[in-house]
Amino acid sequence: MLTHTLGFSRMGKNRELKRALEAYWKGDLDAAALAAEAQKLRVEHWGLQRQAGVDLPAVGDFSLYDHMLDMTALLGCVPERYGAVGDEVGLDAYFLMARGGKANGAGVPPMEMSKWFDTNYHYIVPEFSPGQTFSVKSGKIFAEIKEAQEAGLRLKAVLPGPFTYLYAGKPTVEGFDRFDLLDDLAEAYASILKRLAAQCDWIQMDEPVLALDLPEAYRNGRFAQIYKKLVEAAGPAKIMLATYFGSIAHNLKEIAETPAAGLHIDLARAPEQLDAVLSALPAHVVLSLGVVDGRNIWRVDADKALERIEKAANARGLDNLMLAPSCSLLHTPVDLETETGLSADVKSWMAFGAQKCRELRMLADAACGEDVSAWLAENRAAWESRRRSPALRRKDVRDRAAAIAPAMMERPKPYAERQKAQQERFGLPLLPTTTIGSFPQTGEIRTARRDFKNGDMDEAAYKNAMQQVIRDVVDRQETLGLDVLVHGEPERNDMVEYFGEQMDGFCFTRNGWVQSYGSRCVKPPVIYGDVSRPRPMTVEWSRYAQSLTQKPMKGMLTGPVTILCWSFVRDDQPRSETCRQIALAVRDEVADLEQAGLGMIQVDEPALREGAPLRKGDWSDYFRWAVDCFRLSANGAAAETQMHTHMCYSEFNEIVEWIAAMDADVISIEASRSRMELLDAFQRFAYPNEIGPGVYDIHSPRVPSVEEMLDLLRRAAKVIPKERLWVNPDCGLKTRGWEEATQSLKNMVQATELMRRESGA
Ligand code: GLN
Ligand code: ZN
Repeated sequence: MLTHTLGFSRMGKNRELKRALEAYWKGDLDAAALAAEAQKLRVEHWGLQRQAGVDLPAVGDFSLYDHMLDMTALLGCVPERYGAVGDEVGLDAYFLMARGGKANGAGVPPMEMSKWFDTNYHYIVPEFSPGQTFSVKSGKIFAEIKEAQEAGLRLKAVLPGPFTYLYAGKPTVEGFDRFDLLDDLAEAYASILKRLAAQCDWIQMDEPVLALDLPEAYRNGRFAQIYKKLVEAAGPAKIMLATYFGSIAHNLKEIAETPAAGLHIDLARAPEQLDAVLSALPAHVVLSLGVVDGRNIWRVDADKALERIEKAANARGLDNLMLAPSCSLLHTPVDLETETGLSADVKSWMAFGAQKCRELRMLADAACGEDVSAWLAENRAAWESRRRSPALRRKDVRDRAAAIAPAMMERPKPYAERQKAQQERFGLPLLPTTTIGSFPQTGEIRTARRDFKNGDMDEAAYKNAMQQVIRDVVDRQETLGLDVLVHGEPERNDMVEYFGEQMDGFCFTRNGWVQSYGSRCVKPPVIYGDVSRPRPMTVEWSRYAQSLTQKPMKGMLTGPVTILCWSFVRDDQPRSETCRQIALAVRDEVADLEQAGLGMIQVDEPALREGAPLRKGDWSDYFRWAVDCFRLSANGAAAETQMHTHMCYSEFNEIVEWIAAMDADVISIEASRSRMELLDAFQRFAYPNEIGPGVYDIHSPRVPSVEEMLDLLRRAAKVIPKERLWVNPDCGLKTRGWEEATQSLKNMVQATELMRRESGA
């Protein structure tokens, strides 16, 4: 039974690629040195996979920025604004598309970035114009295959498939149907496959789009039709259709007719699809079982995996099976061996990329009747220790979760009454101004945090340093004339890590980096056990901040759904259960902040939307528990306490109903880039509570003018009654400098004053 990977990390054990890229962009490294570093990483990662026993590592998955952008280069689908690219998309044009810069003397913005399905990886969104043509403009994948062969590697080439590539893109002209391009696109793919066929036996075409509800243009035999062409073009090379991130059972009819030689399915995310696939798939098709979770850091449960493999083997025979991680290992860190700070127990429950490759080999050998008893015994022992660990099932946490009653999710009074009580308490002006929480994280702040963490600064000195920052931030907000203040979050490295570090049930890796976009990586916390909050996490800072001002200070928390979404979550119980435990911990923090005199508390849920399942049919289940968790965390507050929430990074039009169900008194929400269009949805739904649609984009250092923000406020006031409008930026200011932040907020306050005058206030 062959083992293969769908892709592997690009960054390297120590984020070598990140360093090389950033040095190149700064001009400290030349193109040849960058290429050499990239090659070194590829060869090292192939070696790692091969050593672990992977028969067919994927080649073509490596990227200097993003594999979808590589496909854009390969297809020559470069938007005109980046200038002529000739026969080969060079490094300059490539990074110009990825990062923006100067083309023909004028500044050009980068291409849009979007989340890759429901992962935290961001890809560069392809653009399609009417009359779009495609022609091969990159030799990258051909060269990488050659390089792999010279290294003596047996391999499988990998490309994003045409259906997924087209689906993931966007039209440049409104009303243009990009799916009309499918046949032309298939022609271009055919010529690429012809070339690849001369180099390799297997070609993996990634079509995760098959886990979604297919658009009309993709149904009724279109997969069969297009892939027939591609299979012909590939001649002797075999095509494997790779699906992942969900079940494909609802699209099996389309898939079964498709003449691909292989099909890969994700059995980590959707083990329940196995039966349907086994009965629908023609006997000659090689089935690749994604039994090892490619997106999480837990060790495989060997017995469970073997059960699935055996079932498939009984139905189809061993020869027609392959084993792989459920999806590309791009989404897991490289090597657990480098983790020295984890407890031995917890470490024994985990597997990173290299270890997952080893698991594949062992499982394949076990299925083929070879003796892997030592490995099996070790696997079982690790799982046994995990199951028995007291940290995983704490009676106090479980009892509390079992006692959650619906009333705990309801505020004590309906919104209309709360609003009155809060208005009396705070006496805010029309169109209150505020910010989202963080203020610029200067070098001094980072240094102080690091010194404290490393033990180079004692607690008293650290506390002093942070209080000084808070004082400064409060002063500045007073001077600007903002109505509702924040403490600025200087003590937080990251809005999830900060809380995870203070709760039981979490642990942190040293090197567990995964790519988020380009050279940017994140190191998600690991939730391994039952979650609880041993002591208050933010109260001291918030109480101090409130003591400095007569104005209301918002206590600032990260919501349970966001903490869940941005962590590696335990896989031995439903996510909803883990989320409820986090919600109870946040609830305690809300109560303590209230006790400490904070009259306003914000519970951020920027990730609420991105946690939604891929298929709409599954949404209501998810949103029901996710919104309940938010309500559990926030709605224990008294009627006079004003509860805020904040959302960004997403489209919210489709989920207004759920946002309303959260019943926050005030929501601040990203809206400036869509020019307040989002508010139409809030109007249509008659969103009942208060809203602060962001009036400026904090992602760029540009200072928006008073006029510009006034214009957005006027637009907002047309759709939302001004009595319920707040004024704030789109998101937190931590990545900005003080200069532009101050100027932007000054303009924001001025725009608000003009708007108040216009409204006769
Ligand atoms: N309160 C957080 C901040 O201002 C919110 C960040 C976010 O929405 N991602 O930084
Ligand atoms: Zn935000």
